[in-house]
Amino acid sequence: MSGNELRCVKRAFDSNYIAPAGPQVKEFEDMFSHVSGFKFCAAVASGTAALHLALRHLGVSKGDAVLCQSLTFLGGVSPIIFLGAKPVFIDSDKVSWNMDMNLLECELKSRTKAGRRVKAVITADIYGQPADVDIAAELCDKYGAVYISDSCEAVGAKYKGRFAGKGAGAAVYSFNGNKIITTSGGGMLASDDRDLILDAKFLAEQARERFPYYQHNTIGYNYRLSNISAAIGLGQLAVLQSRVKRRRQIFEEYKKSLSCIPGVGFMPEPDWACCNRWLTVMTLDPVITKTTPENVRLALERINIESRPLWKPMHMQPVFKGCRIVGGAVSEELFATGLCLPSGTAMTSQDIHRTCSCIKSLLKQVS
Ligand SMILES: *Cc1c(COP(=O)(O)O)cnc(C)c1O
Repeated sequence: MSGNELRCVKRAFDSNYIAPAGPQVKEFEDMFSHVSGFKFCAAVASGTAALHLALRHLGVSKGDAVLCQSLTFLGGVSPIIFLGAKPVFIDSDKVSWNMDMNLLECELKSRTKAGRRVKAVITADIYGQPADVDIAAELCDKYGAVYISDSCEAVGAKYKGRFAGKGAGAAVYSFNGNKIITTSGGGMLASDDRDLILDAKFLAEQARERFPYYQHNTIGYNYRLSNISAAIGLGQLAVLQSRVKRRRQIFEEYKKSLSCIPGVGFMPEPDWACCNRWLTVMTLDPVITKTTPENVRLALERINIESRPLWKPMHMQPVFKGCRIVGGAVSEELFATGLCLPSGTAMTSQDIHRTCSCIKSLLKQVS
């Protein structure tokens, strides 16, 4: 927290709106609309909820296929399952680690040829790396699918100078406790489509019809964001740019210290992207470094430093056994060779130095 948040929360308390409604929710949506460039926003309980609402609005249902990225977090996929539809996983490319647009095109083409229209495509902005929105939007347009950008990890990242996700039919963002800015828990659905946002808000409020009594013609959800959380969000949005700046610095410090070691690499940044570097991700060539990310993780853990493997690709998850995967080798290799390093904005240069020293001494030992 930056300190701003408490003032915003105090204001919310003073207004006595301790509810999933109130002036701060509207303010937060308007401010997010302003920073993202999307015309309409709905503040909701989580990023997962935002995606669920978008897919539900599009009528995704039993038997439908939704194309999505294999290298991602479960919350970007589970709403497909909530609606009874089937995920089709697409592999990543090596330049962005996000969805491979050539594979996406092949899959859209072959499904269209077979007369199976795809309702929705979801790209994920992995570790804050914006997906190639223009290409994805063009492909979705051509094949009649709605394009949703899962920008949960990319709040504050830029794509060709635009806010990550802008240019998609809808984009979802997360303010979960682990993300670059947080409302302790929360999410945002953003779109230029007014009907989509209005319908999502309606569904997020238990699909309550406009009657004096409670009338329900369909089933909705309890997905609204609390006014208190929205107040925290207002304080956090004010420091978003400085948070991105610090995360990018942290990435550069790691890179400067470690990239001279043979076999050590870092997540690339394609020319369209200004990644928010939510997490710094390094890769180890197992042949050159003669070790594995797991050994590095354990060495760090011994001195009480937490690091983590990358997202385990969805097509490797037991729960998605039998689902279709297009490609797969790139995300499998990233999972096998990558490691997420500590990247919190509160880290000092000494903290980074300590982490790097541990990694360096381990790599020296084994080589
Ligand atoms: C965090 C995250 C989500 C889900 O957001 P929640 O707010 O935790 O529900 C979805 N997709 C990706 C890629 C995420 O990192």
